[in-house]
Amino acid sequence: MLSALQQHCLEGIGIQLWRERGPDGAAVPAMQPEPAASAAIDLPQEMGRRGIEMNPAPAAAPPVTEASTAPVAEAAPAPALKLDSWEAMVDAIHACSACELAANCTQKVPGVGDRHARLLIVGEGPGHDEDIRGEPFVGRSGQLLDRMLAAIGIEREQVFITNIVKCRPPNNRDPRPEEALHCRRFLDAQIAMIAPRVILSVGRVSAHNLLGCSDPVGKLIRQSHRLPGTEIPLKVTYHPAYLLRNPSAKAIAWQDLKQLHRMLQ
Ligand code: URA
Repeated sequence: MLSALQQHCLEGIGIQLWRERGPDGAAVPAMQPEPAASAAIDLPQEMGRRGIEMNPAPAAAPPVTEASTAPVAEAAPAPALKLDSWEAMVDAIHACSACELAANCTQKVPGVGDRHARLLIVGEGPGHDEDIRGEPFVGRSGQLLDRMLAAIGIEREQVFITNIVKCRPPNNRDPRPEEALHCRRFLDAQIAMIAPRVILSVGRVSAHNLLGCSDPVGKLIRQSHRLPGTEIPLKVTYHPAYLLRNPSAKAIAWQDLKQLHRMLQ
C-alpha cells in the first residue's frame, strides 16, 4: 500500500515529472505510469513517511554484467592525502588546487546529505546554481532529482549527493579525465566512509567515470553493475538535465527508479 504522502508524491510526479503539454496545451502522459492500485511502487508497510529504513540487513546483490572497459582517465593521480576522517576529507577538498577547476569556481561543492546514507547519488559536477550555493543538485536538475526520489518515498535528506568533480567546470563543460582523476580520491574517501548500500550514478559522465568505460548510457542503464573493486551495487540512470531536455526518456527513468527502490530493500 502507498501512504498518503507517497500517493501525493506520485501525483505530483505524474503532473510535474511524467506529464508534458500536448499541442493544445493539455497535459498528456509522457509515459504510462502504472496505476497506484497495481502498486507502481509497492512500498513495504514498514516504510513509513521517512521512506527507507537506514540500517536493514544487506540484500542479495543483483546479477552483475560488467561494462566494457575502456579506461576513462590515464593521467597520474594527485599525491596521496590523508583522508581518514570526514572533516579531513572536506578540508582537503576545500584546500585542493590540483587542477584548473579550483581556480575558476566560486566555491567547492563537496556534497550534501546523510553521511550514513544507504543511497549515494553521484552526478557529474556542480553547475551554476551549485557553484553559487555550494550544494550539489539545487538547480532545475536538482529539483527534478528531488521529485524523482520522492516518487519512491525517499527524501533528499536521507541520501548523500555528490559529484565526480567538486568544482564547477567552466561553462558547464564535461570534466576532463585528469580533473576527474584528481577528484577521485575525494569520491573514493566519501564512498569508503558512507559505505552506501547502493550507488545511483546519474548521467554519462558519472557512469563512465565510475565504471571506467565509455559505453552509451542507454546500454549501461539496462545492465547490472557493481562499483569496480567493490561489492557495492551501482545503478545507472539518465541525468535529470537529460530528462528535462528529453521527456520521453522519463519512461525509462521511471523503470530505473523502481529498480533502485527494490535494490534498497
Ligand atoms: N548536475 C550535476 O551533475 N551535478 C550537480 O550538482 C548539478 C547538476
